[in-house]
Amino acid sequence: MGQVMTVSGPIAPERLGAVLMHEHIYSDIAGMQEGPTPPERVELLRAYCAPFLKRLNEYGCHGFVDCTPIPMRAEPWVYQEMAARSGLNIVMSTGFYREAAADEARPCGAGIANRWLDPRIMEYDADAIADIMVGEFEEGIHGSQVKPGIIKLASTSSELTPGEVKTFQAGAKAQQQTGLAITTHVQGLGTAEAQLNTLEAAGADASRVILGHTAWHVVEIPWVVRSLMERGAMFLLTNLRTDGPAQPMARLVTEIRRLFDDGFGDHLALGLDWAFENEQGVFIPCSFMPPPPYIYMFTHTLPRFRELGLEEEALERMLVHNPARVLPMR
Ligand SMILES: [Zn+2]
Repeated sequence: MGQVMTVSGPIAPERLGAVLMHEHIYSDIAGMQEGPTPPERVELLRAYCAPFLKRLNEYGCHGFVDCTPIPMRAEPWVYQEMAARSGLNIVMSTGFYREAAADEARPCGAGIANRWLDPRIMEYDADAIADIMVGEFEEGIHGSQVKPGIIKLASTSSELTPGEVKTFQAGAKAQQQTGLAITTHVQGLGTAEAQLNTLEAAGADASRVILGHTAWHVVEIPWVVRSLMERGAMFLLTNLRTDGPAQPMARLVTEIRRLFDDGFGDHLALGLDWAFENEQGVFIPCSFMPPPPYIYMFTHTLPRFRELGLEEEALERMLVHNPARVLPMR
């Protein structure tokens, strides 16, 4: 069995316990360069992020995958400090974000060409883009000893933009060279299939591809989800808030139970997408998920899942066993 690369070095997957598979400690979605992390933001993370990271351990959660891509991450030492303060095994990402649609109403990034793709993507070919990711894995991120433990990729719609196509082809190449799993940001319906097609055509191992933010897909297009699971892919359900209307959550649990009944239980994982971020212009605790940070999974989401009839065994498979299978380097 391979090891999982964390910001504190490689570890055995059994040490992870439950794993939040898609979170962000720090996401600077307005800046397009990774310079020094502003000290006041680090103070916010020390005061408000680290204590909640630490409390995850009370719930048997010792693994945390940070899915922030280049160039929105904090400096590597920030993740190491959060790992030291919390005792968590934190996995950092390499990889790239998506290109927003021209008419997309988001409050930031409007002045950035090809938002939010790293500016280098437009000039580089897929091999050169892969070299950036492989370089971070082999030499450490920004000259540090911290290595990424997963490859993050993202796209917006059922047709990838030319820049996104290059990042996905590059991600497949980087996977072949590093043995890391790939985790994605899926947006519109149809995006998941387009991503898997592009990755597989470029040589990626579908059983090491995690299609993220796909709770909606599991509810709306379960037949497509099954066909992609049959090819090996994992679906990562996020943003599982309990303060909305009851019906969508009940439908989601029904679909999860059906997937388990039909033998697809190995293809599901969970996260919240909780983030300290600046989507609204200022750097604050998440503007799109309610408090409390991170432990929300255990204080809100899982209790609701249980009320709706999801069995402990299914929860454990999604939180413990599936991450321990997909995360180790091969
Ligand atoms: Zn995210």
